[in-house]
Amino acid sequence: PQWVKVIPKVELHAHLSGSVRLRTIRKLLQKPENVSILQDAESLLEGGIKSLEQGFRLFPIIHQLIPDSETLRMVVQDVLNDFAEENTAYIELRTTPRDSRNMSAEEYLKTVLQGVSEYMSAHPTGMVCRVLVSICRHQSTEVARDIAHIVERIRTLRPDLGGLIVGFDFSGNPNRGQWEDFEPILRKVRTELGLPITVHFAEVLNDKECMQILNFKPERIGHAVIMSDLVLERLMKQEPPIGVEVCLTSNMLTNSVSHLTEHPVLNHLLPGNHPICICTDDAGIFDTSLSEEYGQLLRYFPMSRDDTARLAMGALDLAFCEDENVMATVRKRMMKAMKPP
Ligand code: 5GP
Repeated sequence: PQWVKVIPKVELHAHLSGSVRLRTIRKLLQKPENVSILQDAESLLEGGIKSLEQGFRLFPIIHQLIPDSETLRMVVQDVLNDFAEENTAYIELRTTPRDSRNMSAEEYLKTVLQGVSEYMSAHPTGMVCRVLVSICRHQSTEVARDIAHIVERIRTLRPDLGGLIVGFDFSGNPNRGQWEDFEPILRKVRTELGLPITVHFAEVLNDKECMQILNFKPERIGHAVIMSDLVLERLMKQEPPIGVEVCLTSNMLTNSVSHLTEHPVLNHLLPGNHPICICTDDAGIFDTSLSEEYGQLLRYFPMSRDDTARLAMGALDLAFCEDENVMATVRKRMMKAMKPP
């Protein structure tokens, strides 16, 4: 329905590189310096992403298209503008700091933070943006430790930028790397930097890891699609409940669920009023938007406008930003915008 676009929304699970519009990716591919990756990229883009593994082949290509701070700045502005157009009132944008041809991981993260800060200065009454720093499980634990140090340094030396970092994300190819190797690093981040953690959870069947993650008690989890009844039951019973970031199109396109009517979160958590947030994951490469994601939900689980607006508003309780004034402002704006004309 048309009103889905109008109601104010919250985005808590959006990967920067995956949110770059296909149009922008195609434009960047036309640059002469990208001729060597053009063919690989075109063949991946042509058929659309149909599995997680395909997605993980595309990310390094997108990374090569963003080799310097100028392109990165442009991409951040584009992505934030896209979300603002969807009437997103609050967004936590996540990204993995990485070394590239012309930028160190630290420069990368500072550029993203600067971009976010500039966006908000240019739109003082608009969308409130914060950043989550991703740790990638298919990279080494040394890289993860370096990233934690970079965050610590930025928070100390550039509190104006570091203050925009509100948490950490654990992501990357779920078929590679082990949660238990990264857990001590994330535990340290939580205790020493005081930052909450969201974890990619149950994207592939791995009950042992799911139980380890639930024992860690992440402040939020993302996906929760492929798990045994035992894990699902444990998730449903865990106190306090762990908020779930739900990414429907992503789960469908990567074949994690065969049909949305079989989505465990929608079938088992939503009816019990478990805290959830509807999110896009990778709006660019999956060619979706936040409104489209609410549309997917409503197609299979119809809800009134009021109930949908309440669901969107409820997601604000899962936000990692602890600045009460900022959150009160977002809440007030959402309440005001929620009233139908
Ligand atoms: P970036 O961190 O470079 O801004 O965004 C791309 C990265 O996000 C990927 O390299 C990958 O580590 C992570 N990512 C994006 N989408 C997914 C997803 O659906 N599942 C998982 N596990 N990781 C993802």
